[in-house]
Amino acid sequence: MDFTGFGWIVFWVFAVGAAAAAFTWTRAMKKRSGRGPRLYMEGLRALVEGDDHVAFERLKATINEDSDNIDAYIKLGDLLRRRGRLDSATRIHEDLTLRLGLPPADVIAIQKSLALDHIAAGNVNEAESSLRKILELDKHSAWAHDQLVTVFLKAGKFEEAFEARRSGARRANEKPGQALALYKTLAGHKLATEGKGHDARLFYKEALNHDEDCLPAMLYIGDAYQQDGRLDDAVEWWTRFANANPKTAYIVFDRLERGYFELGQYGGITRFYERILDADPANTDALIALADLSVKKGDHDEAVRQCRQALDNDPDNIPARAGLIRSFVQHKDLKQASVEIDAMLESAHFHPTGYVCTQCGHTEPEPAWYCPKCKAVGSFGV
Ligand SMILES: [Zn+2]
Repeated sequence: MDFTGFGWIVFWVFAVGAAAAAFTWTRAMKKRSGRGPRLYMEGLRALVEGDDHVAFERLKATINEDSDNIDAYIKLGDLLRRRGRLDSATRIHEDLTLRLGLPPADVIAIQKSLALDHIAAGNVNEAESSLRKILELDKHSAWAHDQLVTVFLKAGKFEEAFEARRSGARRANEKPGQALALYKTLAGHKLATEGKGHDARLFYKEALNHDEDCLPAMLYIGDAYQQDGRLDDAVEWWTRFANANPKTAYIVFDRLERGYFELGQYGGITRFYERILDADPANTDALIALADLSVKKGDHDEAVRQCRQALDNDPDNIPARAGLIRSFVQHKDLKQASVEIDAMLESAHFHPTGYVCTQCGHTEPEPAWYCPKCKAVGSFGV
């Protein structure tokens, strides 16, 4: 080929242009692939330091540079969730699930974040689905099992919580008898409130197979028998409840007093309180209950002795002091009654009545093992 002068000029213009373009492009590419990891590292550092704003900016820039950085997407979504932007968080994490051929570790990480998005949004079924996907890939994941249990408990799905806890325990080779018994009992109690008393009782008895000392199961079995009109059995189970833990025996005092009264076994309740005191001599509740019976019977000396003994254990005890006052008034000893009123006013700090959730402060009139407000389990200190 024979180039004219003009031809050479055209050739060189193209050649130099192409070289320059190639040079610029390579530099840009180098810069591009160089910036991604650095931005990502800065994002991670900001996350560790708790600077969510910088973390957000860096992670966003990271995925603009490198759309293959799965972890940057995950963390960006997590940040959005923390800021309460649940829809955006869920969308980012959900988009990642559409990517094919990711290694299992990435899939698990994505489903973990997605599960947390759904938990935060209160989407029980979606959260369950994500957690089950994790368990398909990693059947030993204690985290996924625990979250599954928590999700079900919050949703009041106690049977499901029971199953999830049990299969988690089987994998980890542990024996969570107390938790299983409690969940089974709560499932039964739910049936009882739906009018299925007989089924409920079977649940309670199964609960006791998991933990023979499960207090709520014993209490509710007694209640179920009472509702069926089987008062003898009710009294037997309430008594078991009291014997299993004298400290919380006071929960069944009223039930047992009424039960023995309706059965016409008037001495039964006194013997019951005496047995509690044999097992736990400092049981102020039982002493006060005995004193109350003495006041009702008009046995002034015995009432005073029992109230004084309760006050020896617990000098600020209002019911014991009130029992003394009542007994002195009944005995027409108003001078001594007024001495006791002064003593009560000095020591009085009034306690709220009922059972208080240690998690949220919610008060229930009846002993409870599931908080209807904050959905905590076993938070009433019973
Ligand atoms: Zn609560």
